Amino acid sequence: MVFFEKNSETMPQERLQDLQFEKIKKQVRHVNKNPFYQNRFAESGCNPEDIRKWEDIKKIPFTFKHDLRDNYPTGLISGNWEDIVRIHMTSGTTGVPTPMVYTKNDLNVWADCMARNFTAGGLQKGDIVQQAHGLGLFTGGFGFHYGLELVGAKVIPTGAGGTDRQLRLMQEWGTTVFTGTPSYAAYIAEYAMEKGIDPIKDLKLRLGFHGGEPCSDELRERINARLGYGAHGGGMRRCYGLTEMGGPISMDCEAVTGIHIWADHYLVEVLDPNTLDQVEEGQPGELVMSNLSFEAMPILRYRTGDKVIVSYDTCECGRTHPRITRFLGRFDDMILVSGTNIFPSQIECVLLQHSELSENWQIIVEEEKHLHTLKVEIEPAQEASIDHKFVTSLEKELHSTLEKKCTVEIKPVGSLPRFEGKAVRVVDKRG
Ligand SMILES: [Zn+2]
Repeated sequence: MVFFEKNSETMPQERLQDLQFEKIKKQVRHVNKNPFYQNRFAESGCNPEDIRKWEDIKKIPFTFKHDLRDNYPTGLISGNWEDIVRIHMTSGTTGVPTPMVYTKNDLNVWADCMARNFTAGGLQKGDIVQQAHGLGLFTGGFGFHYGLELVGAKVIPTGAGGTDRQLRLMQEWGTTVFTGTPSYAAYIAEYAMEKGIDPIKDLKLRLGFHGGEPCSDELRERINARLGYGAHGGGMRRCYGLTEMGGPISMDCEAVTGIHIWADHYLVEVLDPNTLDQVEEGQPGELVMSNLSFEAMPILRYRTGDKVIVSYDTCECGRTHPRITRFLGRFDDMILVSGTNIFPSQIECVLLQHSELSENWQIIVEEEKHLHTLKVEIEPAQEASIDHKFVTSLEKELHSTLEKKCTVEIKPVGSLPRFEGKAVRVVDKRG
């Protein structure tokens, strides 16, 4: 097994926990210089000096997404303004952006986390990588870029899009690794076949690191098969991250038994969203994260809104850090249809179990006479013929999974939108 930083990655769990506790005490004192946190601590009746034992961590007040937006641009910065060297933010197309700023040390921690991830996922020094996560204001692309360089791979920073050029570069340079959103990976595979390029015979891709949106096991299997990762002896690794924690920070290792989160830099809690108590290991709950290492804008006890299952067992790869073993949905992506909560990822799981169906689908939510209706539009897989019986049985299957009636409409191949970045799966036509 190859490690990027073996001592940190295989640190015994008791030592990791001691280190986490020392670091969170230090972070609490650090952020308490900032008026936002001073107020937040005062309101919650928590004095930084009260954090004396592990159990006291739950006295630290939560931080929410709206806190970052409400205090945009600089309100949550705890480090010295002079030391800040990078500013990122979400696109903010639907409102105020969510910002994140970094000192030089923060960027080094970030690159370091990513280098550990890539190494754990099987990346090697000689790999040629096409990095197609967007390079811009959004955190994704740069985190990938610097982590890849740190491992010593050869990075071609294409950014997202330009699919013809992506395929040409893959052939000209013998690209072995591809990164981008899972939707884009699925699209490139489809586009290549249309252009007469067989990824298994004509390309050398053996690893994919794909993040920025949820990805079901079914979609991962399809990407593995279509882009030739599996055939070339590697596979697809999923990536998880969020702007509030600095960007993409965690990934699958080669064992693909869950997404590793580096506990020496991030404290992970899984809480029951109603009682706010820690759930039993193996039970689903809301992921709450604290940034233990950043200086500029460390966010503590951030309510991610992501519903996950976390395992704390040592992974078969030898790493001792916790893993997200199941990702059950992002509360932000949840749609409420006549009182029923629906995660698009649940729908993807059902659809992609059928080889007759493609990865191109969307959900249409409409309102008819005050009733909300749910419809899935999907294209068939190339050359698959779908009859009425199949559609009826798929509708039944979706109904039983979602506990909500759902109609299915089969659309012509090529008629639904394709995505170079994050896919937009939900079209909400309600007033
Ligand atoms: Zn592992």
